[in-house]
Amino acid sequence: MNIILFGPPGAGKGTQADRLKKKHVLAHLSTGDMLRAAIAEGTELGKQAKVIMDRGDLVSDQLICGVVAERIEEADCANGFILDGFPRTLPQAESLDRMLKSKAKNIDAVIQIKVVEDVLVERIAKRARESGGNRGDDTHEVLKNRMNVYNQQTAPVLPHYDALGLLRVVDGMQSIDAVTAEIESHLPR
Ligand code: AMP
Repeated sequence: MNIILFGPPGAGKGTQADRLKKKHVLAHLSTGDMLRAAIAEGTELGKQAKVIMDRGDLVSDQLICGVVAERIEEADCANGFILDGFPRTLPQAESLDRMLKSKAKNIDAVIQIKVVEDVLVERIAKRARESGGNRGDDTHEVLKNRMNVYNQQTAPVLPHYDALGLLRVVDGMQSIDAVTAEIESHLPR
C-alpha cells in the first residue's frame, strides 16, 4: 500500500505517518527529513538545500524528484510507503506518476489533513519552542512564507489527485487518535 499524506506545515503529517508506518509496516518517506539529514551530513545536496529551506521556499523539482526516485527503490519500500511532504508541486506529482508507472507501482490513497491556518501557526510556534530552535524554518516570517508557498504551489496538487479519484479529506482539527481513525477508514482493506 502506497499513501500520500498531504497538508500544510503543522497539519500533523509526521505524527500520523509514524502511526501508519508502525501499523501497516510501511516506509515513512519524509522529504523534509531527508533534506535535514543531508544538511546534518554536510553533503552537496544539503548545502544546496539549506539556503532554500531557511527561507521557507521549495528546493527544485528536479533535485527532490531525484531523491525520491532513489529512495523508493530501497528494500524497505517493497511493502509500501507513506510519502510525507512530497509531492509539493504539480510537476512533482506528474514526475511521481511517471516514476511509479515505470516501476508498475501506484498510489492507493491521497489523504489531505485539513486544519485551519490560525491553529497551524500556533502548533508550529509550539514545535519551535519545544525543539529549542532546531529547525531554522519554524520562525514566524519563514512560517508565513511556507504557508504562502503551500497555498500557491502545493494546494494545486489536490485537483490532480481528485481527478484520479484518489483524494480523501480528513478533519485535522480532531484529536490525534480521531484523525488516525479517520485516515484508517479511508485506506484500502
Ligand atoms: P517539511 O519538513 O516537509 O516541512 O519540509 C521542510 C522544507 O524542506 C520545506 O520548507 C522545503 O524547503 C523543503 N522540502 C521538503 N519537501 C520538499 C518538496 N517535496 N519539494 C521542495 N522542497 C521540499
